[in-house]
Amino acid sequence: MTDTTEPDDLLAALRALVGTEGPPTTPRHPVDETLVAHWCDAMGDDHPVYVDPDAAAASVHGGLVAPPATLDIWDRGGLKHARSADSPRGRALALLEAAGFTSVVAVNSELELRRYVRPGELLSNVEILDAVSEEKATGLGVGHFVTTRHRYSTADGEHVGDLLFRVLKFKPGTGRPAPGPGEGAPPPPDPDPALRPRPAINLDNEFFWEGARRHELRIQQCRGCQALHNPPTPRCPDCGSFDQGWIVASGRGHLYSFAVPRYPQVRGFRYPVLVGLVELEEGARLVSNVVGVTREQLSVGMPLEVCWLDSHPAQVEGETDARGPITLPQFRPATPPRREATLAAADVAEGDALPLFAVPVTTTLIVAGALATRDFTDVHHDRDAAVRAGSPDVFMNINTTLGLTERYVTDWAGPDAVVRALRVRLGAPNHPGDILAFSGSVQSVDPATGAVVVALQGANGLGAHVTGTVELTLPTASTPTQEASR
Ligand SMILES: [Zn+2]
Repeated sequence: MTDTTEPDDLLAALRALVGTEGPPTTPRHPVDETLVAHWCDAMGDDHPVYVDPDAAAASVHGGLVAPPATLDIWDRGGLKHARSADSPRGRALALLEAAGFTSVVAVNSELELRRYVRPGELLSNVEILDAVSEEKATGLGVGHFVTTRHRYSTADGEHVGDLLFRVLKFKPGTGRPAPGPGEGAPPPPDPDPALRPRPAINLDNEFFWEGARRHELRIQQCRGCQALHNPPTPRCPDCGSFDQGWIVASGRGHLYSFAVPRYPQVRGFRYPVLVGLVELEEGARLVSNVVGVTREQLSVGMPLEVCWLDSHPAQVEGETDARGPITLPQFRPATPPRREATLAAADVAEGDALPLFAVPVTTTLIVAGALATRDFTDVHHDRDAAVRAGSPDVFMNINTTLGLTERYVTDWAGPDAVVRALRVRLGAPNHPGDILAFSGSVQSVDPATGAVVVALQGANGLGAHVTGTVELTLPTASTPTQEASR
């Protein structure tokens, strides 16, 4: 990043705001078990310390707690009570807006927990302007980074945590051009899956495609000898019977073999495209795309799980049902099981890899995540509003990203792991139809205190969606973990 000249008075006015505080928010409702349950449903987080009073009482927390990633949702205004723009950040952004820095993007979100909060507590926060950078040249454009700290406290004044939030306010159209492809290299084909060739649907395979539309993986089964076949055929290759039915497969299996075709590249696919021969747990094999994983992460035998791509969502006008819509089965790394007995610090070593965790990004996940984090910003639930804002579809809000990040690490560590901080850098947006693929490893571990830092990334088809670290405390052999809360 390079500094460029700019009027001294703008920077001076911005710097004069640094350290100023807004008024405390006025919470409408206390931390609430019902919303915590909705949050757990949206994130797919099944850790019992958030929803099961008996399990929570027996845990390191001694009772129900709210997920750490929810710290900043409790004092939000809700649908009809938007927060005032008259805040330290609002004033800084207004100064920048007037100076031509009209675009804004969230860059970092860091949650620091002093302790977990509990149902019934009333939280509010004070916004403090933490820093304004000098003018920087970034990939997006010339702009200033504006950092605020939100200090969260209970009704009796106990400081329970902080949210550090950084945005880049920039001049659109002033970014560095992205490095182009090599000289003479053809551009990659359009990855819109609606451009893929449509399957040829006939009487023999219609059940398969009809099942796919319902997100059911149907595999042909011979009624004569019970053998499974894929792809479907009119006559059983084993016993010769023409009497063919089907079963609904579980969708679970493993990678039997794979190939990475590089040429010719066709429209509708994102390259490199990974083609797997998947052996289902029922025994049949099928050829399918493997997603949510890189070529380097693929290994024969890895557990996989079906996920669905609604590639041709629209009915084709004037055609029969056999012409559309089309949904394609794909396979992603199977969701790792949630650990029920918490890892001890002694069980963890620097460099240990966390299992891959591939989350299908659906409209339902995006909308449920936004509403469960009390975020009613229209671009997270209204496709038309998102398109008007320049996005191809709705996109995931930051709190859902943080929730999934927290789930990834606590599913690996176990329910008595105590999260101390979630620090992420935000990147490519998450749109429906994509896969958010988490990978991570242990960056450091202190066996004496149980302090562990996990470094992680969540990537999607557009690049890195989230990169960061999660700091947590694991039980130690000598000193049982004490949750620093009442
Ligand atoms: Zn047969």
